[in-house]
Amino acid sequence: MDLELQRAAEALREASRLLIFTGAGISTESGIPDFRGPNGVWTKVDPSEFTIDRYISRPETRRKAWSMRRDSGVMKAEPNEAHLALAELWTSGRMIGCVTQNIDGLHQRAGLPDEAVVELHGTVHKASCLNCGREWPTTEILERVDAGDDDPHCDCGGIIKVATISFGQAMPAAEMDRAYQMALSCDAAVAVGSTLSVYPAAYITMEAQVRGVPYVIVNLGRTDQDHLADFRIEGKAGEVLPLLIRSIMMA
Ligand code: NAD
Repeated sequence: MDLELQRAAEALREASRLLIFTGAGISTESGIPDFRGPNGVWTKVDPSEFTIDRYISRPETRRKAWSMRRDSGVMKAEPNEAHLALAELWTSGRMIGCVTQNIDGLHQRAGLPDEAVVELHGTVHKASCLNCGREWPTTEILERVDAGDDDPHCDCGGIIKVATISFGQAMPAAEMDRAYQMALSCDAAVAVGSTLSVYPAAYITMEAQVRGVPYVIVNLGRTDQDHLADFRIEGKAGEVLPLLIRSIMMA
């Protein structure tokens, strides 16, 4: 086993309130591209196209968003070894929770209960009316898109959008609160598959790190918080996490 991984496992062995923070990189092995990795979405589309203002003002943006959503595979993706290992860690009782920037719902599909997951950027599995707030499962709206309604609207006339946080939209206050509570009471933190460059989400791990708890980063490629981490494991989440978690749980 990699020496850095072994040392990290040793440092985490005493932890009973581990905070896990995940980003798009934990789901690439489930076939969902990340944003900033070498094959990330931002290498193909322009992020400025996906602001909330554009979504509201331009039917073409909404049509493109729905068709990308339909074709992206996110709705049908399956959890991978990294998601499954985290569910095992939760079952072992050593984890305070998992704060995720992901919108794919794969932590819950792997077995983490809702109470263990904080979705900072919303979820792709729900859609809502921006006018009256009515909600639907996204699959229902995608059925309308498939049937030819390429810019679906609510009965009240409002625009429908998946319940993800777009650029320019406010962060969900209750979720931010839960995430900070976890950061303030965890006794170790592990960030997985994130460049740790999107704010305010990236403040969560910083909040834990400044309290002096052991901080481990697992990622392919550099992150903006490498200099803050006690241990930095370079590797695929689906390979590293099962090893790391098994090794922690052997204690
Ligand atoms: P990011 O794209 O900025 O960073 C992902 C990081 O993970 C990169 O450094 C990449 O090299 C690394 N990575 C890729 N595959 C990996 C693997 N198998 N194992 C370990 N590391 C791997 O993503 P981010 O930091 O999460 O921030 C960007 C935003 O992306 C978030 O707001 C999130 O909402 C959104 N997003 C979510 C999904 C999803 O839900 N699956 C997908 C794309 C983007």
